[in-house]
Amino acid sequence: MPTATLRRPRRRRRKRAPLLRLAAPILALVLLAGAFWIALARFSAQREDDPTKQARIVAIDAGHGGSDTGAIGVNGVRECDLTQATAQALWDLLEADPDITPVMCRSDWDEDLPAADRAKRVARSDATLSLSIHMNSDGGTGQASGFECFPAPPGNQYNKNSLRFADFIATEMSAAGASLRGDGGVRYAYYDENNQRIIRERSDTNPEGYPSFAMVNSTGCASVLAEQCFITNEADLEAFASPEGCQLAARCYYRAIRQYYGLSPEPEQSAF
Ligand SMILES: [Zn+2]
Repeated sequence: MPTATLRRPRRRRRKRAPLLRLAAPILALVLLAGAFWIALARFSAQREDDPTKQARIVAIDAGHGGSDTGAIGVNGVRECDLTQATAQALWDLLEADPDITPVMCRSDWDEDLPAADRAKRVARSDATLSLSIHMNSDGGTGQASGFECFPAPPGNQYNKNSLRFADFIATEMSAAGASLRGDGGVRYAYYDENNQRIIRERSDTNPEGYPSFAMVNSTGCASVLAEQCFITNEADLEAFASPEGCQLAARCYYRAIRQYYGLSPEPEQSAF
């Protein structure tokens, strides 16, 4: 006996408009692409923030030059000559190091170029780190001494990495015999509306609302301004601003730069 297969009559599908049929897959694709884009942006931002993954290009700034001599110290020494001697010594160390590329903020020592313009130069370069070198002065009393440096302050997007660099510098200077001023030699400087300098210790993480030095404010990379020693103090001058002293400070900056990028303080000695 033949069996009759019973089939349900096919229900006629209602036809959807082609655009409507595509809406769901398109939406899914857009969402997926969005999620991918966000993940990629987050990844590259992390990478950008991580000094050990950055291009190792360092801007060196001699804090004074041209007609700007800076402070005058014991026996008439000029700040500009000492910042230039240190900047040159640091340049020589970095140029001999295949791991790091230095760039100089001044094209020659006699160039009259205000800090704001030098900062712009750094921002236009590919530098991922910047160091502005200065000598301190207490106006001639000879009492003040020691090392201090100023990273980009809280509120600046490069604060965290600038602080990292500043801590390496302070540690190296201390190991070389410098006394550290304030809270471990790392402080924040601001200028109020009357151009008066306000100093805050590193523990003060509240953004002050005033600008800091141009050379840490607007360089577009992690930046520190170092006050190497007091050239108004004889012992300080001898230790960190004599010809040997400038070499010693440059070596401290050099070792700090290498550590900032996650390298050993000194390059491995070649076996040959
Ligand atoms: Zn200076």
